[in-house]
Amino acid sequence: MNNEDARMTRRSIELTKTLISMRSVSGSSEQDSTFLTIVNQVSKIPGARVSVSDNGMSAVFTTGLDDRESPDRPKKSVVFVGHIDTVPPMDRDSWQSSPFEADERDGRLYGRGSSDMKSGLAAALAVFERACREGLPCVVAMTKDEEIGCLGAPSAVEILDRIPMSGMVIMESTNNIIRFGHRGALWLRLISRGKAAHGSNPSLGVNAIVRMMGASAGIQRIPLESDDCLGNETCNLGTMHGGAVPNIVPDYCAGELDIRTVRDHADSLVEYLQSIDGIDEVETEFSLSPVWTDPDDPWVASLPGERDVEPVTYFTEASIFAAQLSQKIPIIVCGPGDPTCVHSVNESVPLQAIAQATEHFWNYIQ
Ligand SMILES: [Zn+2]
Repeated sequence: MNNEDARMTRRSIELTKTLISMRSVSGSSEQDSTFLTIVNQVSKIPGARVSVSDNGMSAVFTTGLDDRESPDRPKKSVVFVGHIDTVPPMDRDSWQSSPFEADERDGRLYGRGSSDMKSGLAAALAVFERACREGLPCVVAMTKDEEIGCLGAPSAVEILDRIPMSGMVIMESTNNIIRFGHRGALWLRLISRGKAAHGSNPSLGVNAIVRMMGASAGIQRIPLESDDCLGNETCNLGTMHGGAVPNIVPDYCAGELDIRTVRDHADSLVEYLQSIDGIDEVETEFSLSPVWTDPDDPWVASLPGERDVEPVTYFTEASIFAAQLSQKIPIIVCGPGDPTCVHSVNESVPLQAIAQATEHFWNYIQ
């Protein structure tokens, strides 16, 4: 490891600690000020360009893309995507150290966001700073409110589409193992309606809960598909609400489905559910496309590091970029975080993993 490599690794670990100490729970005003602090600091780096989306939900940092030597040959860059928000600390008393101060012990950094995904963002920013010093192309996109529905990513699409990109790295926790995608997510609310009446004379009403129960066999026969790479689609009926008290015939019942998809066929699934007797309305609460990048893609094949062709179990902002970017580019999921402790109490990341991610990300932009 030369001096510059060592400097970059030290910087990456230092930045992880700094980011953990800057609170950024999704939707909070602290997230807004953390976001602005980072934007201000990056804008002071010589050679860095900063674009903040109009709605303030994302920022894109670029460097090395102005090629005055050979203007006819547009340079392309790898784009590192990281969200700045974290989930709340949850059970505060069970933390062994403050969730908002990076605590270093047993070769790990502890703190909220250490794995998901401040270590990844820190590694990308350390690589970005060095790229600025050395004139290499590098792009980092930082988003807000990923944890509450990928709210920031759409605003980065327009900025990124103006940048020639060779590939994208979503820096979610994978222990630095390159992963190639995940299923999509379609969350639907099913509504049955009825007619209220007194519970002592139910024949005067129409029971919405009973209608929904009648629909259940149809819901369980929902036509799901499978895919060689992404596996099987699944459907979970996660909530069911209806009625207020035992002595009123309920006029409303609603259930929520979480369908994990292997291809974009939300319209046909909604149409199927609407055709079931007992379901009056189907509302889409959340819809993310499935994502898959061919492991044999030349850019992906050129990357150093371990790989695993099993899809990741969670969904990521890759869904937004795969569906909305007009440039069709390979997208991988890869970051230093430890997937076993994401969102948990005493979240942590191995220092060694931060160093390895920094080294790999630097190699990605060569
Ligand atoms: Zn995350």
